[in-house]
Amino acid sequence: MATTTDYYATLGVDRGATDGEIKKAFRKLAQQWHPDVNSDPAAHARFTEINEAYQVLSDPERRQRYDVYGKVGVEGDPNLAGFGGFADIFDAFFGGAAGGAGRRGRPSAGSDLRYDLRITFTEAVLGTEKEIEFPVLGRCGTCEGSGAKQGTEAITCPECKGRGEVRSIRQTMLGQMVNVTTCPRCHGDGKMIERPCETCRGDGRTEGKRVLRVSVPAGIDEGHQIRLSNEGEVGPRGGPAGSLYVAVHVAPHPTLKRDGTEL
Ligand SMILES: [Zn+2]
Ligand SMILES: [Zn+2]
Repeated sequence: MATTTDYYATLGVDRGATDGEIKKAFRKLAQQWHPDVNSDPAAHARFTEINEAYQVLSDPERRQRYDVYGKVGVEGDPNLAGFGGFADIFDAFFGGAAGGAGRRGRPSAGSDLRYDLRITFTEAVLGTEKEIEFPVLGRCGTCEGSGAKQGTEAITCPECKGRGEVRSIRQTMLGQMVNVTTCPRCHGDGKMIERPCETCRGDGRTEGKRVLRVSVPAGIDEGHQIRLSNEGEVGPRGGPAGSLYVAVHVAPHPTLKRDGTEL
């Protein structure tokens, strides 16, 4: 095989191509030749060439050396052989080019809470309304839950580009495996806070007390639960709130006994 590799020809661009044109050409070819999608036995070798060309031409410094000295100028560079440039390969497959976001990181929801409410036998029969007070993590008033210092905003995680997950290609005995894991940098949020809110230290929540009136329907039984949605803990950094479950405990009546609906 000839060794006069022309990286420009490999990507099908001319020597004056802009970075954008090079990237676009690479994405198109990667989608076509990546061995994960192309079962042609020649795909692996072809893709390696495409990738190598892109690794050189997408790097201004390498590209310049290549333009002046040819392939000799970039020989021995790390990451040229094999499968470098993962981020761009993934972009080619998982959005980016099409402008379509993949699965965006979503803020996680807050925990559900449980409150044990004791009522009397008569209250259970007739129904009642009770005021309850409980400690709860609520939205931070300083940053309104964003976790970012006032006047600043959370940034898109540079590691996963806001997707909340990262993909890596592993070589295994069975061939290439694409591995999807939660982004280690933003823990799946897709966003990162550069300067945290001083009140909540970036969590978006502060501890406080909440007072609620709970109406207990007539005829409620020991062990029943009343669910109040959105009254649980709020999620970190603006995540939705969990539910509050009020577990009702009925004190036994000194003389009357209840059996189902019969007294
Ligand atoms: Zn805050
Ligand atoms: Zn991330």
